[in-house]
Amino acid sequence: MIPIAKPLLGREEVEAASRVILSGWVTQGPMVAQFEREFAACVGACHAKAVSSCTAALHMALLAVGVSPGDEVITVSHSFIATANAVRYCGAVPVFVDVQPRTFNMDPLRLAEACTSKTRAILCVHQIGMPCDLKAILAFAREKSLPVVEDAACALGSEIDMGNGFERIGKPHGDIACFSFHPRKVITTGDGGMLTTNNAAYDEQFAHLRQHGMSVSDQVRHGASSVIFESYPELGYNYRLTDIQASIGIEQLKRLSGIVADRRKLAAKYNAELAGTAGITLPLEPSWCRSNWQSYCVTLDDGVDQRQVMQALLDLGISTRRGVMCAHREAPAGQAWTCARPEDAASCLRWSEHSQDKGLILPLYPQMTESEQDQVIAALKNVLP
Ligand SMILES: *Cc1c(COP(=O)(O)O)cnc(C)c1O
Repeated sequence: MIPIAKPLLGREEVEAASRVILSGWVTQGPMVAQFEREFAACVGACHAKAVSSCTAALHMALLAVGVSPGDEVITVSHSFIATANAVRYCGAVPVFVDVQPRTFNMDPLRLAEACTSKTRAILCVHQIGMPCDLKAILAFAREKSLPVVEDAACALGSEIDMGNGFERIGKPHGDIACFSFHPRKVITTGDGGMLTTNNAAYDEQFAHLRQHGMSVSDQVRHGASSVIFESYPELGYNYRLTDIQASIGIEQLKRLSGIVADRRKLAAKYNAELAGTAGITLPLEPSWCRSNWQSYCVTLDDGVDQRQVMQALLDLGISTRRGVMCAHREAPAGQAWTCARPEDAASCLRWSEHSQDKGLILPLYPQMTESEQDQVIAALKNVLP
């Protein structure tokens, strides 16, 4: 069986986690602080704060930029459900704009029609690792004085050229970027997330929000030589990452460049060998970015049935996934959403729906062998009508 994805974990992670377990300090502490420093350096950010998931990171990022009940946040429907749900956690309404086919990313030309007097922020996504058109999105946001939060859950190691050469996603180019360490992403800590920002005030807010809104961290209290009483001046959450997870993350970061190089090589082979295949359109990497290829998603032609192709590949021992789903079609019980023309969502969110219904994600993981990839390519060509 060829899986869709496989985390790359080894002895180094095992040994790092054991050292932390035996150290006696297992929750947020020195390893989290070290992971944050190394992560910030890795993406070129001034500050980084580790949290329990990217979903938690998105929630805190939106709170930090001031998203409140009744506000609207412009985002995409064509994303993992957590993107829209983070907006809802703030009591705000997600306003969905369509994506571009082939990059599966927010279409900046649709921002103007989605913007109202209630718009409080833009939450863009670097979908499946492909950087979105930040230059155009930021130009619009600056004109409207809107903060930009980047959902970079899948985009660690991806790069963008904003005019100064290639830089890693997470610098951040918007106000805050949020990453995930779920096993389906490029590096993993089991579960986990990270926020990066160049704004010291936001960074300080994250430190409080992730720890119940507590005025001093337990690490500071633990190390103090005089008695310190904590207080809880604001509503907070328990969004901490543990030191066990952080120690794994530190080892994973060392593997990042190699993982991304391997993923780009595999994607290049898919691009070369699937080019011109009837029945599919290949993903597009714009010249101003370099994807980490967290997922490689082809688009099936209108006449090709997604479920049939996936089943035929599964019968041949090859696991695939359909395209990223659309949040507006899920709408958790009673949760509001809107778009520029809600009465006509099907045309308004046409490419989002098309990308879900016709997308086909192929297996791609750094340990994938040449013969495994050859099998996938041959099988796909075989099962396409
Ligand atoms: C995976 C993912 C998330 C959620 O990440 P978690 O760490 O699992 O909370 C959010 N947004 C996007 C685009 C994702 O792919």
